[in-house]
Amino acid sequence: MDYSELADCYEKLESTTKKLQKRDILNEFYFRTPKNELYDIVLLSLGQVFPSGQENLGIASELMKKIIINVTGAAEKEFDAAFRETGDPGLAAERLMKSRKQNTLGRRKLTTRKVVENTKKLPEMQGKGSREKKIALISELLSAASPKEARYIVRTVLGEMRVGVAAGTVRDAIAKAFSREPRDIEHLFDVTGDFGRVATMAAEGKTAKMEVFVPVRMMLAERAPDLKAALEKFGMAAAVETKYDGFRIQAHKKNSDIKIFSRNLEEVSRQFPDIVAHARECMRAKQCIAEGEVVAIDRKGNPLPFQMLSRRIQRKHSIDEMVRQIPVQVRMFDIIYLEGENLMKSPLKERWSRLKETVKPAGGFGLAEHLETADYKEANAFYQKALDAGQEGVMVKNLDAPYQPGKRVGYWLKVKEIMETLDCIITKAVAGEGKRSAWFGSFLLSVWDEKKEKLVEIGKMASGTTEEELEKLTQMLKKAVIREQDRIAEVMPEIVVEVAYEEIQKSPTYDSGMALRFPRLKRIRYDKGPADADNIKRVKKLFAMQAIGKSKQ
Ligand code: AMP
Repeated sequence: MDYSELADCYEKLESTTKKLQKRDILNEFYFRTPKNELYDIVLLSLGQVFPSGQENLGIASELMKKIIINVTGAAEKEFDAAFRETGDPGLAAERLMKSRKQNTLGRRKLTTRKVVENTKKLPEMQGKGSREKKIALISELLSAASPKEARYIVRTVLGEMRVGVAAGTVRDAIAKAFSREPRDIEHLFDVTGDFGRVATMAAEGKTAKMEVFVPVRMMLAERAPDLKAALEKFGMAAAVETKYDGFRIQAHKKNSDIKIFSRNLEEVSRQFPDIVAHARECMRAKQCIAEGEVVAIDRKGNPLPFQMLSRRIQRKHSIDEMVRQIPVQVRMFDIIYLEGENLMKSPLKERWSRLKETVKPAGGFGLAEHLETADYKEANAFYQKALDAGQEGVMVKNLDAPYQPGKRVGYWLKVKEIMETLDCIITKAVAGEGKRSAWFGSFLLSVWDEKKEKLVEIGKMASGTTEEELEKLTQMLKKAVIREQDRIAEVMPEIVVEVAYEEIQKSPTYDSGMALRFPRLKRIRYDKGPADADNIKRVKKLFAMQAIGKSKQ
């Protein structure tokens, strides 16, 4: 397909704010897309070339600016002016392309396939000479693009489409285009986590089928005010499990092949060869998909802070050394597929017993501590023991409930002693002072406001970080800078941080009307994207809980 057709579609989407209209623009477009291109087109319509969250293209705004200047032959001043006026690198590129100095006669038509091909190569480029290769890949696309096409190529590469297409709209458009129920489409997405595959399967009339090595969106937990309330909610069907403070994994096994996926469905097998080896030995099944939590441990087997583990997740080289330096343990707590059978609809009680039959603990790979009880005293003793062992708290689970992929439906409740934290998105960063002048020193925190359909600010965080973490955060944010003025950098809303605070207050300082008192960084949530962060509703709920003295602050 010519990329110009997709660019026209993006433009139509951009011209309306109405969800139903957007759905119909997409539905019509998907319907007439050739089947062999549907996968890419659906992902592109979401501004992606890889299924959600699976790969960061790693192109900083500064590099994109350089490429646009090179391709258009514009002066830096001209780019800066275009960017200042439009506030969008895509529109700036379009404007400069229109007054481009080079001859565009004889320009070859750009196809969507070519755009996907070049864009997909970007994250592979690492190490020496990679910057030049990235420049060449993007320049090739922009040189062949019309001004309008350039607008959308730049936005795709920077991961910021600005056409207002959300997952729900894509789901409904796929359903309409291929005469299916939105519910079926949602289910297909649950077991594939990939809208490209969902559309292809829907077009072929397929229904949802689980497969080993295709990660499933993971079930999520809600927070409970306290242990008593959580137990009461599930009555006789409650199980209490240790809540390990680590990193969620989904382990897939087929014969002796193992793949490990993270919570955002990214494959992390390479970073964890030790887990792969243990899973191969301990998961006694030909085919299965099971879930657990990875925790870093010290020499005595005590849990280490999450920061240590995140070093292992980030590491792409000298992995063996990392395996020795930071050993891990795995605690499995669920199984959703076993020998060709989908267990998601089975109650947890059944899944747990199947898991126990499948996992034979050895060498740090074992089962989560799990107690089935309705008795508060017994559950509380379990809870205190978990806290004494340095764990985060407990999960209270409904033994009658199915596995609900990707959902927070209240079948799992987390109970933690420590103050509730909030997962916020960093939207601005302010340059540090003195000793920390090379880094950003404070960070504006935002959460999503559903009613206003935008991010709203709730506080400014300046402490709680180790220098190592500040440096890491700065590095990540520098890549996300949209514009900088008077030492304040506006950044793309993509980095999620878990924040602790003294109190939530009503305040006119921020556009949310709320403010966190003394927010401090607990950790960078590498495993969460902006869609997983908390929203203003939760901030207000915590505020209300605080008022009636229910929160543990
Ligand atoms: P949170 O990330 O705070 O929303 O808490 C949910 C996370 O707790 C899950 O995604 C898991 O990574 C983690 N977790 C730790 N222990 C357990 C457990 N026993 N059962 C389920 N999730 C657990």
